[in-house]
This record gives sequence, C-alpha cells and structure tokens, in this order.
Amino acid sequence: MTDELLMIPGPTNVPAAVLEALSRPSMFHRGEQFARCLQACTAGLKQVFQTRNEVLILTASGTGGVEAAIVNCLSPGDRVVAIRSGKFGERMAEIADRYGADVTTIDIEPGKAADPDQVREVVADVQPRALLFVQNETSTGVCQDVEQIAAAGRQYGALSIVDAVSGMGGIPVKTDAWGLDVVVAGSQKAFMLPPGLAFVAASDAAWQAAEEARMPRYYFDLPAARTALDKGQTPYTPNVNMFAALQAALDLMLAEGMENVYARHAMLGRACRAGIAALGLELLADPHYASDVVTAVKSPQQLDSTRLVAAVRARHNILISGGQGELKGRIFRIGHLGSCQLDDLVVTLQAVATELNELGYCCDPQEATAAAYAAA
Ligand code: PLP
Repeated sequence: MTDELLMIPGPTNVPAAVLEALSRPSMFHRGEQFARCLQACTAGLKQVFQTRNEVLILTASGTGGVEAAIVNCLSPGDRVVAIRSGKFGERMAEIADRYGADVTTIDIEPGKAADPDQVREVVADVQPRALLFVQNETSTGVCQDVEQIAAAGRQYGALSIVDAVSGMGGIPVKTDAWGLDVVVAGSQKAFMLPPGLAFVAASDAAWQAAEEARMPRYYFDLPAARTALDKGQTPYTPNVNMFAALQAALDLMLAEGMENVYARHAMLGRACRAGIAALGLELLADPHYASDVVTAVKSPQQLDSTRLVAAVRARHNILISGGQGELKGRIFRIGHLGSCQLDDLVVTLQAVATELNELGYCCDPQEATAAAYAAA
C-alpha cells in the first residue's frame, strides 16, 4: 500500500504520535485507566469547544453526532428551521424530517452563506423550537457566520443546533460566548484522527430540552451519556483505542496552542486561495465566506473535475475531492486541515496545475507556488 497525502476535507492525515496511541493495547472500558483517559479527553475538548459544559464523546461518525443533537432536543411535530447551505445542511433537514419535525428550510445558493437578517425574518415568521445549520459547509467551501445566525434564532427563542463537524478545531467556534446550544464535531477532520468519534457539547437550555424531547432515541441518548460520564464511563462499549488516540491528538493541538492552530489554518486558507487565483481559477465560495479548512474551486472550461481528481491521485499520490450532488464534475475541493502544513498545500497546488495542463487547461504551476508562499 502506498501512503497517499490526504488533501481532502476528511479523513485527514494522522500524525505519528496519534498512530502510536492507536496501536496500544485496548483499555478496559470500565476501568481506572479509561476513566482517566476519558477525563483528559473531555477536558481537552472543552478547551477546543470553548465551553464550560461537558463535551460528550460518542462512538459514531459526525452524522451520528448530528442525529444525537436533533433527537435529544426535539419532539415529533416541533417546528424547526434548517438552513440548507449544501449537502450537510440538507442532511440536517433530512434527519429532522425523518424523525417527524415540521421542517421549514432556507435554501442557500451553492457558494453563498446564509444572511443572518434573512434567517431572522424566517425565524420570526415560523417561531421554531430550533434552528439547524452548518458552521463550515464542506460541500461548498463556505464558512457561515455562526455567531450572528445563532443570535438571529435566539431572538425568537430557537435553540441553535450547529454542525461544526468539519470546522471545529481549525476555525474558532466560541460555543459559550456565542450562546450556541448544541455543537457537534467529528474526529476525522481538524482533530487529525481516523473517523469514528463524534463530539457533542450542549448548553443548559439544551439539557432542559432533552428532558422534554420525545423523538425516539436509544444509542444516542445524551442524558444517559452524561450520567455515565460522571462515573468515568460511556453507556456502551466505546472505541477505546480511539479515545487513547484522541488524548494524543488533543495533546498535540493544545501544545501547538489553539490560537496557533487557528492561525495556521487561516494561513493555509489564504495560501490556497492565492495559489488558485494565480492559476486563473475561480472559487465556488463567496470570498467573504471562503473556508479556511477547505477550498472549493470551479472546474475551468467545462472540464470534468472527476478526471482531474483521478489524475492527481494516479500520478502524484495526492487525494483531493470532487464535487458532491449537483456539483459533481463541476468543482474540485482541496482540504487543508488537521496536521496540514504549507508544503503539503504547495505540492498539491503543483500537482493540480500540472494535471490541469495535461487536461488542456493552460496554467503555470510555479505561479501558484509563488502566490501561495507570498500569501502565507
Ligand atoms: N457535516 C459536515 C459539515 C461534514 O463535512 C461531514 C462529513 O464530511 C458530516 C457532517 C458527516 O460526517 P460523517 O461522514 O463523519 O458522518
């Protein structure tokens, strides 16, 4: 097996210290060692989430965390407003609908972010129990204004349920200061871990809602998870090896310093956008809301981006992503999150430029490199 450089928006490259932690013998999940690890992981996550509340760790992918957030706050028939910013905004609406919520959607054009004033108008009209939205819409490379959107909902008493699966840990989310009610993150993104853990922070209002919520839940019962956490456990057998790895990853993040981690991601976002512009390519995202963890680029000259993605992988061992849903073939996406460094990004830009030339789009790889270094 050849090692590939993962420049997709997750899973991301796993650092050696995290791989080492993963390879340790499994811990007994009802023992002291696991309890200490769980305590350390929760303490670290609270720093990353910027919250005083507990952050629950679920053995599930990010979608499981989002589902947990929804079913623990809502009852069938509850009105919710869901912002469909792209594939992951759509998924939030689908989950709520599947469990019987009365869903009103706000549809956002691909590449745009929700306008908090528009959100306020819809929320004022619908008076929903909750407002569901994505922080970093991975499918379009857009980072939304979480603080203002949540504030628009709160003005009319709506709980904010935020999918921060791909942005948390790379782009600051001030859970408490911004008054967010439920915030969900996933392990395989900025946390530099394999997929398989979801992290869920909940406010006092969300815990109150969980007492009243009647959507069915069993595995994803958050009050049960909180009760178990008080005993240093999880309700069911967790992926113990991933918890050891999470502790190692959090150690790395906190040793770098969260402000430095955010600054590195901001630098990577700038460098990527500059490199792309130097190749004469256009971003999908409104530049004002362009994400610092994933850059979505319009494919030039009707070129099918799946061909570019395949060529970059085949000839350079670098994975980038294509588009999802209606954007399939029309965009490509470069993920620059987690352990990503400037050099990883530069080799990726060079590989993209080289293969664009092979596919008939004329551009200069060296210009992309120079622009990326200059913007960094
Ligand atoms: N939400 C966002 C913003 C994502 O980027 C993803 C995955 O890419 C998910 C949710 C779903 O996460 P998972 O695939 O881990 O279930």
